[in-house]
Amino acid sequence: MDERRRLDYLGAMGVDVWVPRHAKANAVERPEETAFGAPAPGQAAPSTVSPPVRAAAPEVVLNPVAPQPVESGPVELDLPDGASSPDPARMDWDALETAVSGCRACGLCETRANTVFGVGNRNADLLIIGEAPGADEDRAGEPFVGRAGRLLNRMLAAIGLAREEVYIANVLKCRPPGNRDPRPEEAKQCEAYLMRQIELLGPRAILCVGRVAAQHILQTDAPLGSLRGRWLAFRAGAIPLRVTYHPAYLLRSPAQKVKAWEDLVEVARRLREGCGEAIDQGNDKDQSD
Ligand code: SF4
Repeated sequence: MDERRRLDYLGAMGVDVWVPRHAKANAVERPEETAFGAPAPGQAAPSTVSPPVRAAAPEVVLNPVAPQPVESGPVELDLPDGASSPDPARMDWDALETAVSGCRACGLCETRANTVFGVGNRNADLLIIGEAPGADEDRAGEPFVGRAGRLLNRMLAAIGLAREEVYIANVLKCRPPGNRDPRPEEAKQCEAYLMRQIELLGPRAILCVGRVAAQHILQTDAPLGSLRGRWLAFRAGAIPLRVTYHPAYLLRSPAQKVKAWEDLVEVARRLREGCGEAIDQGNDKDQSD
């Protein structure tokens, strides 16, 4: 990637970068943007990166272990005890959403305002997984709204993707009170729903945002810092998975946006080219954040 494009990326992520005067003189003029690269009202999203094209065939195969399509057919899942439907693993999208909306399989059903099933394109190449709804999401019934959601939208725009082009879901479909971390038993009860969403979607890549989601999806207690920066495998399967910081964390720690940008660029590249570095299993268990 050339220097001009790198600077455009960083600008889109809201990262201030010192630029030599001669470089500024050569810079391409870009539309005025709001903080963190959001387009100003009435303007198009940043166009520094070509959006990934779902059907594009890679011209050059960099890695012989490029991800393969997810196998279709029923999978063995742990069903939520007391779930309102017999088997999420055999449901279609609508049946699954209905089952989630009526689910009382764990105690979070007592305190939720709304279930938060997921949102986006059900044929998306990219699945984004967070940990659980917060207060805004609980009210709206939609994942990643509020400030963190708006930052996520801008992060996606920085790689040429609209929110409507990806699918966004959480490990938990109901809000833990006080925004506490999901408890293992809650995640286990809710797991069948997310697993079925992944199977129905068949994404070409997964982006886990935040430590909690990454640790649950990868079934590890490794810190986020050791999980990001490389391609991992979803449950030892064929779907490549990348880990990055949660937008809510980036709002508190803007210095980490550079690393998040690196993660997003790699995701965009993999979606666009359909290949990349080797996938490993990410089973580190002895480190802490
Ligand atoms: S968090 Fe999941 S398992 Fe618990 S009640 Fe909500 S949908 Fe059901």
